[in-house]
Amino acid sequence: MTSPVLLMLNRPSREAEPHEPGAAAFTSVAPSAAQVTVRDLGVTRGDGIFESISVAGGRAQALEPHLARFAVSARMLQLPAPDLDAWREAILAAIDEHDDVPESYIKTVLTRGVEGDGRPTGWVYMEPSADFRRARAEGIRVITLNRGYATTVERELPWLLQGAKTLSYAVNRSAGREAAARGADDVIFVSTDGYLLEGPTANVVLRFGDRLVTPPTDIGILAGTTQAGIFAFAEGLGMDTAYELVTPDDLRAADAAWLVSSVRHAAPVRSVDGEDRALDRELTDAINTFLLSRRD
Ligand code: PLP
Repeated sequence: MTSPVLLMLNRPSREAEPHEPGAAAFTSVAPSAAQVTVRDLGVTRGDGIFESISVAGGRAQALEPHLARFAVSARMLQLPAPDLDAWREAILAAIDEHDDVPESYIKTVLTRGVEGDGRPTGWVYMEPSADFRRARAEGIRVITLNRGYATTVERELPWLLQGAKTLSYAVNRSAGREAAARGADDVIFVSTDGYLLEGPTANVVLRFGDRLVTPPTDIGILAGTTQAGIFAFAEGLGMDTAYELVTPDDLRAADAAWLVSSVRHAAPVRSVDGEDRALDRELTDAINTFLLSRRD
């Protein structure tokens, strides 16, 4: 039985005091023992950020893009900037400590800490991934749901934090339950001005002929590390790639569609709002083989 690994950071940010002056940068602790106080703002307000990083073959995939996005999210929430060297070191230490299983993932969490204390809380958690072979092979049924924001939200209403990877995922989880209640597996959010955004935990990629298209990253969605990796892979195959506004009609008309994310990787969309759509098994397999074989 593979045990999870948990490392608590002593000083998640150089802009704040350490939790224990003079102590090591991080400490490996028992994941089953309490580590975070009930007064931590990450717990009481969802006031913090995270990253989920795939680990395969003993390597964290897209590590630097994940760390860069972690820093962007911190900036958007006006959190103390994460000390990326300390976080990278802790991530590599977690991988060293964890059993070498085919697919696992790391979650990095940075919270604002206890109100008034000024020291953020940070940890790195690692465990084996769930088994996503079925979603990758057979595809997922998605519904489209209105997110209630226009594509201008990130530019015009930055306090809504759309485009940051915050701990406030209650809405994303609620959307997942709405999908389940409607007999589907996942969701693609649509903006109030009628464009596809992203899933609750994934980006949308569409194929039109030999062209892959994903929504622009400045419309209130996460800039996906998986989507970026897929675009680089597709360009290597000679395909074109583009960031463009796309609509639910485009989703139905596309030759293929995927929800793509770290850990689950590329899940082909096999139905939209109850209407079946074609899968591109060959390209799906090629993309997932590529994603699973990445070593950085
Ligand atoms: N969009 C949202 C809302 C997500 O939560 C995630 C991943 O968790 C993604 C997109 C995909 O990002 P990545 O491919 O970097 O995992």
